[in-house]
Amino acid sequence: MPNTHSISKRTFLKTAGAGVLTSVLPTWRRAAHAAGDAYDLIVIGAGTAGMPAAIFAADRGARVLVIEKSPVLGGTLDRSGGQMSAAGTVFQKRKGIKDTPDAHFEDHMRINHWSSDPMVTRLFVDNAGESLNWLAANGFEVLDNHPVKGAGHEFFTTARYQWGKDNGKSILAVTEPLFRKAMAEGKIDLKLDTGAVDLVQDGTGAVVGVTAESDTGTLTDYMGKNVLLASGGCASNPRMFYDMHGVALASQVAYPYSQGAGFVLGQGAGGFLRYGEKYIGTFGGLLSDDNFPATLEGSFEHHPNIRPPWEIYVNANGERFMCEDNPSIDYRERSLLHQPGERMWVVADQDMIEKAPEWIPRWSKEKFMDSFGSHPMFAKAESLTALAAKVGIPGSMLAGTVKSYNASINEGLPDAFGRQHRPAQLKRGPFYAVRFTAWQLKSFAGLAIDAKLRVIRPDGSHIPGLFGAGEVIGGGATGGNAYTNGSMVTPAVTFGRLVGQRMAVFGT
Ligand SMILES: Cc1cc2nc3c(=O)[nH]c(=O)nc-3n(C[C@H](O)[C@H](O)[C@H](O)COP(=O)(O)OP(=O)(O)OC[C@H]3O[C@@H](n4cnc5c(N)ncnc54)[C@H](O)[C@@H]3O)c2cc1C
Repeated sequence: MPNTHSISKRTFLKTAGAGVLTSVLPTWRRAAHAAGDAYDLIVIGAGTAGMPAAIFAADRGARVLVIEKSPVLGGTLDRSGGQMSAAGTVFQKRKGIKDTPDAHFEDHMRINHWSSDPMVTRLFVDNAGESLNWLAANGFEVLDNHPVKGAGHEFFTTARYQWGKDNGKSILAVTEPLFRKAMAEGKIDLKLDTGAVDLVQDGTGAVVGVTAESDTGTLTDYMGKNVLLASGGCASNPRMFYDMHGVALASQVAYPYSQGAGFVLGQGAGGFLRYGEKYIGTFGGLLSDDNFPATLEGSFEHHPNIRPPWEIYVNANGERFMCEDNPSIDYRERSLLHQPGERMWVVADQDMIEKAPEWIPRWSKEKFMDSFGSHPMFAKAESLTALAAKVGIPGSMLAGTVKSYNASINEGLPDAFGRQHRPAQLKRGPFYAVRFTAWQLKSFAGLAIDAKLRVIRPDGSHIPGLFGAGEVIGGGATGGNAYTNGSMVTPAVTFGRLVGQRMAVFGT
């Protein structure tokens, strides 16, 4: 049985946050046009997935309406790393890299411990190359040394990880002109500042339109033969994020309009949500405070190939819990996942503070040192017990942890966690601790879909006329319980493209 989640429209609309979705359900609607004059495709959300869907559908002669809640095009592409992974791209070919979707599939599943949805992953890797080649044919270019095997996340065995110089904006720089051209040719109608608030269904349950609310509060029914939910995830909606994943949203890094509207719409039409249990946090965030979602002010430089660690990491019990210089980012993320509150303290003594390289990229030494007197995540004390008291962890445990760490170095014994880089003991006060926490940029839960990207009901049957693409189908579906390279943007562009391109096939 899939793990399902449930949220009511009423709850969602009351708690959507950030004032993005504040309407009540429609009590009166104005029909934009007669049902017989329906659009071929209505796309909800003009972002990473929605724009390619509209472009491809328009290109093959469909009449397309795009409803976008925000005042602009692009969605999360304004801040996304835009890192993509695909096999068989022109960028690989010109570097002589041989690659196949099968090899991509194996590598992808290895990295996420076979936790992404195999059907969704297969659909993604089989079609990803064509998506990048389409972007390339329209002017998209990757960074000089790309494709690469990896960066920031676990490495592939083949160089298939690639992105543009302006990150997500490099993709928008290609899709926006294509989208606007189709608009100018009368193939796409666009409603900005307009949010989808309900789906119109006929007596059989088929989706036949969208109720949308303009920024002035006017409710309109738009009729459509097919509707694509491409409204993103819920990583800017703390209440929903918690309901879906059982985890507090530590920081709000995602697009403000990622409020989970598509989850509510899809579920209201008979669909269901799954994969929230695949959640895993991003390692080492420095939060402004404990008022979640807090501001993400920086990140600890934890990659041992860039900065071998001098300090030790301890959990809320004052214990070490991982090998600080393990080269696998997946190992580090997974180790923190199982700690109380997904938080850890990086602990150092005075010698380490003086000699070790900078902890937080782009922070000056002065700002870093001043923070020990002013920042709620920073603490300094003359003894380890006093330091522990300041940060709220058991003092005797911290003192014991440091004692055994020092003793193993002193006695030339192997480290309890297999750590290799142990340049110094923690001996000379004052002692220092900074708290780093797991943070989130995407949601893992999403609507269940089938191999034709149709939203499905709990019994496996599809809801006629309703499709999903992008984060609305869940980061857990495409990336699994891991940060698998390019597993959000690539499938978003790809699945949007497939829905637009194959509307005639999928629509049946
Ligand atoms: C900082 C950051 C970095 C990232 N880096 C990467 C990366 O390098 N590689 C990767 O693979 N993934 C990355 N991701 C994740 C990835 O960017 C997103 O998962 C992906 O862009 C989401 O695409 P989408 O089309 O589902 O949503 P979006 O691109 O967010 O589009 C959804 C659109 O729907 C609109 N909308 C919302 N509600 C409604 C409504 N009710 N009615 C109408 N419109 C609505 C929104 O305004 C938005 O324009 C990153 C995410 C973040 C936040």
